[in-house]
Amino acid sequence: MSPANRWSWVEVNLGALRRNTQAFKRLLGRDTQMMCVVKADAYGHGAVPCAKTMHAAGASQFAVATVDEGVALREAGIEWPILILSEPPVDCVHTLVEHNLMPAVYTADFALALGEAAAAENRVARYHLAVDTGMTRIGVRRDDVVELRRTIDFHRGLECAGTLTHFATADVLDDWDFALQLNRFKEAVEALRGAGLDTGLVHCDNTPGTVLHPECHFDMCRVGVGLYGLHPAEVTRPRISLEPVMSVRGRVVRVIYPNVGDGVGYGLTWRVPRKNMQVATVPIGYADGLARELSNQMDVLVGGVRCRQVGNICMDQFMFAVDVNSARSYRPTRPVEYGDVVTIIGADGDERITAEEMAELRNTINYEVVCDFGMRLEKIYT
Ligand SMILES: *Cc1c(COP(=O)(O)O)cnc(C)c1O
Repeated sequence: MSPANRWSWVEVNLGALRRNTQAFKRLLGRDTQMMCVVKADAYGHGAVPCAKTMHAAGASQFAVATVDEGVALREAGIEWPILILSEPPVDCVHTLVEHNLMPAVYTADFALALGEAAAAENRVARYHLAVDTGMTRIGVRRDDVVELRRTIDFHRGLECAGTLTHFATADVLDDWDFALQLNRFKEAVEALRGAGLDTGLVHCDNTPGTVLHPECHFDMCRVGVGLYGLHPAEVTRPRISLEPVMSVRGRVVRVIYPNVGDGVGYGLTWRVPRKNMQVATVPIGYADGLARELSNQMDVLVGGVRCRQVGNICMDQFMFAVDVNSARSYRPTRPVEYGDVVTIIGADGDERITAEEMAELRNTINYEVVCDFGMRLEKIYT
C-alpha cells in the first residue's frame, strides 16, 4: 500500500476517526449539537472524507477557517451547515451567499454588506456573532454586543444563527481566566436575550472545553483536534479514550554501507562513526511537513525498531542510519533493503512514534505536527 508516484504518504484511519467522533458525541446531551472543526484540511487529514465520516458518526455542523475551505467542501457536494470561524474580507460576501456559508461576524460594516448581498438575491444570510470575552483575538467586545445587533438587526437579508466565544485556557483545570471568560459570555448572552434578541445557537467549547467543562456545552460544541485522536493537553487523557488517526510513512529509496568518516546531507552535519552501518534515504522532507529542526534529533521505525535520523533534513528527502552493532534498542533484526516501509508517525510492531513525541522535539504542539504533514503528502484512507 503506497501511492504510485511517490514512496511517501499519510495514512488516515477513518475507522479511528469514526470512533473518536462517536466518543465525543457520547459526551454531549441530546440537545447539544456537534460542530466538527475541519479547518486546515481537517488538521491535515483531508476535509472532505473526514467530514463525511464525522457526519455519519453523529456530527451535524462543520467549521472551517477560510472562505476557500468552505467553498471546497461545497464543491465536493457537502451540504451540511458550515461556519467560517472568522470574519473574512468584505469583498467575499457574494461568495458566502452563493455557497451558503455562515461567517463569524463582529463588525457592522461586514454584516450590512452581507445582508445587502443576500437581499439582492432575495435570500437571507445566516451568520454567527463572535464575542471577544478575553482572548483578544476576534469578536465584538463583550460590552458592545447589544449595540452591534441593534445596528444590523433591521436588515431583512440577515439572520443570527448563533452566538459564540472562544476560550484561551479551556485546557487548564480550575482556571480563573477561564471562569472569567465564561461569566462574561453568559452575561453577553443574557444581555442579548434581555434586549429581546434571538441569539441562535449558543456555543463556546472547543475540544478541551468539551471534555473538561460540560457545564458550558450549551447548544453546540466545536470539536477539533480530539476528533483526530490527539489530546489538547495531558489533563484530557484520563477523561476520554481516543485513537490517533494519522500515520506518516515512506519507503527506502536507496540504502548503502558508506565508508567510516563519510558525511551525510547538506553541511555534512553527521559522519559515519563505525564500519557496518547503513545509511538509507526516504522521500519525505521539510516541504512535506517534516520540520528541519528535527534534523539529527528524531527517530524513525523500520521493522518495529527505532533508528536515528541523521544529517540535515532536505526539502524532499531525509536519511537515517541503521547501526547493526549499536545499542540493543536501535539494532534491526536484518539489514534495511530498498523498498522497506519506514514509519515517521504511527505504530510499527510494538513501537510507536506519536505526534506528541515529534511536537516535543520541535518545541511545538501536536496540532502543528499533523497540519504540516497535510501540506503535500498524498493521503491514503483506510
Ligand atoms: C480551531 C478552533 C476550534 C477547535 O479547537 P480544538 O482545540 O482543535 O478543538 C474551535 N473554535 C474555534 C473558534 C477555533 O478557532
